[in-house]
Amino acid sequence: MTTLFPTYKRFDLSVKRTSGMTVEDTNGKTYIDFGAGIGVCGLGHRHPDVQEALENQLNQYWHVSNLYHNPIQESVANKLTRHSSGDQVFFCNSGTEANESAIKLARKATGNHKIISFEKSFHGRTYGAMAATGQEKIHTGFGPMPEGFHYVPFNDIDAVKEAVDHETAAVMMEVIQGEGGLNVADGEFVKEVERICREHNVLLIIDEVQTGIGRTGKAFAHQHYGISPDIITSAKALGNGIPVGAMIAGQSLKNVFGPGSHAATFGGNPLAMAAANAVLNHVFQDEFLQTVAEKGTYFLNQLAESIGKLPVVSSVRGKGLMIGIECHQDVSGMVGSLMEEGLLVLSAGPNVIRLLPPLIVSYKEIDTAVHMIEQVLSSEAVNQS
Ligand SMILES: *Cc1c(COP(=O)(O)O)cnc(C)c1O
Repeated sequence: MTTLFPTYKRFDLSVKRTSGMTVEDTNGKTYIDFGAGIGVCGLGHRHPDVQEALENQLNQYWHVSNLYHNPIQESVANKLTRHSSGDQVFFCNSGTEANESAIKLARKATGNHKIISFEKSFHGRTYGAMAATGQEKIHTGFGPMPEGFHYVPFNDIDAVKEAVDHETAAVMMEVIQGEGGLNVADGEFVKEVERICREHNVLLIIDEVQTGIGRTGKAFAHQHYGISPDIITSAKALGNGIPVGAMIAGQSLKNVFGPGSHAATFGGNPLAMAAANAVLNHVFQDEFLQTVAEKGTYFLNQLAESIGKLPVVSSVRGKGLMIGIECHQDVSGMVGSLMEEGLLVLSAGPNVIRLLPPLIVSYKEIDTAVHMIEQVLSSEAVNQS
């Protein structure tokens, strides 16, 4: 008898403990985790360096508020700005909060209210981020939505051109839509969106909550596209499981958020910062990012080869270690079967299996996962015919 709100449809798995790539349940069964807690545990579960940083911080200070200087915040902010087009950072506690901050910053900076985002996007569950999310089902029952949010089809540059006007504050975009089905933006499209934003003095917000912190083989996924967004939002993998969000913005926006304009009691919490600092020490290394890119290419090729032609599969796509397998049918049964086999994966929308393994995954573990996926998806194909 649960006393929790049933906001999640949960699998029949009760966690006992985790380590690296492995989740162990209360029956002693172990699973290889190719979901990483929805793209959160980029360095795997309880990475020893993150654990050590947390233990050290536990013995120093846990919370003092943002009324005082916390040197560790400066250290994490420096790493985030050094590896992005941004110059200053606002810390908060989640992805939705980072996006909320970005929407507020864009409106205050431009004096405009209109925010353009994309169909099938996902930006979070609080009112601003929910309103920016281009999915009807996320809004249902919660109206009225805040005003000023407009959605255009993804990868449709004419629709963006038509939507941007003199009242527009920002365009907000994931370069790979995660929750919305692992949809990858076209290179030309992203460059054109940036150009249109520049032409109309509209801010470009890139939501890197899922794609950032090395997931695609770059520090941030938009760096594959050669653009310089005005605002970048981050969360999920930033703390490797310790809640933390960040908004990174360009120099020209610095004074828009002066004292008293925006805040978060827990933002930049020392424990979260200790975790983030250890994460970035690892992930923001060129050699590490290179291994992610190489493993991602290998994984995608192996999948394409082994399951690409199965009748149930319509497409295999992604970048780095963010991969989607789109099927011709609902994938929840296959996700359940993979769990029974000992492989944890995610879905993205009804028809896409989403793979977000920890970035430390080995080639052997990739081979194991490919084999299990092939087994489950080929028996599904037989069932269908
Ligand atoms: C998960 C996600 C969010 C929301 O993050 P929370 O930490 O759950 O609030 C926002 N944007 C994207 C792209 C996400 O994947």
